[in-house]
Formats: sequence, structure tokens, C-alpha cells
Amino acid sequence: MFQSNVLESQVFVLDAGHGGKDPGTTGNNMFEKDITLDVIELLEKKIKSTGANVILTRNSDTYPTLDDRVKIANQNGADIFVSVHVNSGPSTAYGTETYYDTSQNPQSESKKLATEIQKQIVSLLGMKERGIKNEEFKVITYTKIPSVLVELGFVTNSEDANKLADQRGLYADAIYNGILAYYNNK
Ligand SMILES: [Zn+2]
Repeated sequence: MFQSNVLESQVFVLDAGHGGKDPGTTGNNMFEKDITLDVIELLEKKIKSTGANVILTRNSDTYPTLDDRVKIANQNGADIFVSVHVNSGPSTAYGTETYYDTSQNPQSESKKLATEIQKQIVSLLGMKERGIKNEEFKVITYTKIPSVLVELGFVTNSEDANKLADQRGLYADAIYNGILAYYNNK
């Protein structure tokens, strides 16, 4: 098992994608913004229980801009930034993918963090492995700390949607395990 005391002095910025006027994607009677907030709040509880500090970019149905989210990550002495999103596509598309970006920030660290989180979500929830991907998204490009953007699954696919509806605690557990694995392998 991974040691959790490695997180004690760390500061995490957790970002629930979308919010407020921006619902994100929709499918199977769910809004992305609600799923992301639930998972982030469950993850916050788990991380806080280790004694680590957590800063949320939002804790209710509001819309911080992408610039706001980047600022929060960069101006609080944070160590790690994790953004949670939900995918959409044709009903046959499913699975989990995790993004990092090598253009600006500590590239190998972001990639390592993406690898560990992806691995845990795929195994804990039995998600299809869509892989880790290098992509420029504002919140992982301009944050100056190891940063990842997780696409939990496809809300437009019925099997993924069932998990996104009922297994939010397990997604939080998986992301938490991925963070622990990252710290334990440092
Ligand atoms: Zn999104």
C-alpha cells in the first residue's frame, strides 16, 4: 500500500470543470458541471484527511474563468493541480483519458502524475484505457506546477454514464490513489 503521510505538507488545487452558466457537456440526464463538482468535493475530503491543504477553484455552481483557475493554481504556493472533466461523443465512444502538457510546465512531472491517475481510474472502475495525451488546454498549459486534466468517462455512453452517475466516490478514490502513487514513486 502507498504511504499517505507524504501528502501532509502539500497544497493541492482541485478544479471542478465548468460550472454556473457553463454546464459543460450533457448526456443521460446529467450535466458535466455537477459530476465534476461532486467528484472534486469527494476527492477534497480524502486528501484533507491526510493533513494536506486543498484549495478548490469552485465549491458551488459558479463559473470561474479559465484565467481565474490558472491564477488560483499559480498564486497559492500549490504543489499539484488536478482538473476533472467528463467527455462526450458518439454513443459508441467510451473510456478514460488524462491530459498533460509539455509546452510550458514541468513536463515530466505532469506526465508522471497523468500516468498514475489514469492507471488507477482504469483499474478501479474498469474503464476503457484511452491513454494519456499531450494537449494544450489553458488550465494545464499555464499552471506552473505539475498539472493534469482528467476526462473521467463519456456521459454520452450508457455504460460510462452509469458509472458517472453511481460511482463518483470510486472516481475520487482512484484519483487519490493516483496522487499517492505519484508521491510514493517520486
Ligand atoms: Zn469539460
